[in-house]
Amino acid sequence: MEELQHTAKAYYDAAAENAKQVARDFVAEMDHDRDGVVCLPEFLRFAKVKGYVRMSNPHFFRQLNTSCTGKLSFDEAITFFYIVTSARPLCDGCGHLVLGIFFTCVKCFDDADESGTFNLCTGCFSRSKYVHSHEHFLDNVVLLHAKRRELKQERNKGFCLAAIEVACRLATRFCTIM
Ligand SMILES: [Zn+2]
Ligand SMILES: [Zn+2]
Repeated sequence: MEELQHTAKAYYDAAAENAKQVARDFVAEMDHDRDGVVCLPEFLRFAKVKGYVRMSNPHFFRQLNTSCTGKLSFDEAITFFYIVTSARPLCDGCGHLVLGIFFTCVKCFDDADESGTFNLCTGCFSRSKYVHSHEHFLDNVVLLHAKRRELKQERNKGFCLAAIEVACRLATRFCTIM
């Protein structure tokens, strides 16, 4: 979790002022009594109301609360902001937040509009501790590169089609002149 906290803080520090304000508003909304920290009931209520139902539990709160004070500091609270805005997944095997590399079902990823993605931590993936109807999984780094390759191919295909269209038009014109 410390690694995620550093990442969240780095994004926050480097962000433009209006983006920082969005993060501050998010934390302020969680901090119901405005005492500068987020206690467990505030967190649970906020997560539930905002639809982060799977994260609305004391276990997840304790994971965020790396300082073990029982209350989330601003840095711990913006880690939660980072987790939900970056759509970092919970493992669909064990239910825990995936802190490092994770495996994604490629079919569900491609059809994400309808069904949502299906993700696994390395432990659940390697021990096959899950029930799922699809079989093709890639880790998030490999998947990113695979999607980049696909995009490039699509672009090349588009370029070829455009070239063929121009050639056809020229040929038609040439035939008309003749
Ligand atoms: Zn898992
Ligand atoms: Zn799937």
